[in-house]
Amino acid sequence: MSTESKPPLIWLNIIIFLSSFITAVVIVPWFGLEYGYGLEHLIWFLVAFSFCNLSITAGYHRLWSHKTYEAHWSLRVIFAIGGAFALQNSALHWSSDHRIHHKHVDNNDKDPYSAKRGFWFSHIGWMLREYNANTYSDYSNCRDLQKDNVVMWQHKYYVPLAIATNFGIPILLGAIYGDIWGMLLVVGVLRLVLSHHSTFFINSLAHIWGSQPYTDKNTARDNGVLAVFTFGEGYHNYHHIFENDYRNGIHWWQYDPTKWLIKSCSWLGLTRKLRVTPKIKIEKAKAKMSRDVAVRKIDTLPNASQLKESLNKEFEQLIVKMSDYYDVKKQMLESRKSSLNEKYESSLLKLRYQQLKKELIAQRRNWAMQVARYA
Ligand SMILES: [Zn+2]
Ligand SMILES: [Zn+2]
Repeated sequence: MSTESKPPLIWLNIIIFLSSFITAVVIVPWFGLEYGYGLEHLIWFLVAFSFCNLSITAGYHRLWSHKTYEAHWSLRVIFAIGGAFALQNSALHWSSDHRIHHKHVDNNDKDPYSAKRGFWFSHIGWMLREYNANTYSDYSNCRDLQKDNVVMWQHKYYVPLAIATNFGIPILLGAIYGDIWGMLLVVGVLRLVLSHHSTFFINSLAHIWGSQPYTDKNTARDNGVLAVFTFGEGYHNYHHIFENDYRNGIHWWQYDPTKWLIKSCSWLGLTRKLRVTPKIKIEKAKAKMSRDVAVRKIDTLPNASQLKESLNKEFEQLIVKMSDYYDVKKQMLESRKSSLNEKYESSLLKLRYQQLKKELIAQRRNWAMQVARYA
């Protein structure tokens, strides 16, 4: 594509990204060497960085874009302020872009930050030119959010809120600690640049680097390293297949502070109706993915049709066992809730459940051995 045919540059964005980046890599270290930073700079940097990123991940992303839970207005106000501080446009605009990203993921004409257009484009390039000028103010995919007073208030006052937080917070801290320039550089600029790029990595790196345990229908990847820098959003392969789940890292050992925040807030009554994907759906997706990988390998082997038949048989058995197990588990949990149930009946159910659990574990082991042959 020649330069002439590219849409016009958005100079405001270019100036903000470039000046903040240069300040962060040149002036921030120089100032530190010349005048020194204290522990208070580090602590407030971490607080402000977490405030910004969690407002984006828990607020803009999992609450507003995907409606994975409901939040009290006070928490929504906090996220709205943190989102403006993160300088990533209003929650309404961000969510609108993000819903298109999910709906048309990897479609170079529709996905606003399609990873198929390369690292630079999906990371930051998409914000440097007017690629979406004709749909810029079209929020028809966010009619639900237009009913949220906090979202609309933030959208209306986004610019004053962004200026007030980005200058006001560091200046206030600077006044308290007697170092306005130091706080402006660390809590203002360095925090903004790192917050920007750690979020942008979810659109760029999380679509390039990592594994695809659940689906390979799109470029999204699971990556535990990225999860550390993105407050849990590194489990992006899972997120793209089960976007209505309030968790991205579903296992207890996966680092997902956004999930922990949402869950903790539910104990305080600040969040409710947390949505999770049924376990059977997750396990089925994973089994299907491992079957697809094995089939691709089998197709290169001489006795492909025979091997495929035996693999499919094993796969079907696994699915049957899974369905039986999760069915009985559900029945058992329901029977525990209802007091009408006979003791005898519920103990029978429990026995059946334990039997099916054993069978499923054995079947899972067989399956793992089967697919390992073609790994
Ligand atoms: Zn998403
Ligand atoms: Zn994505």
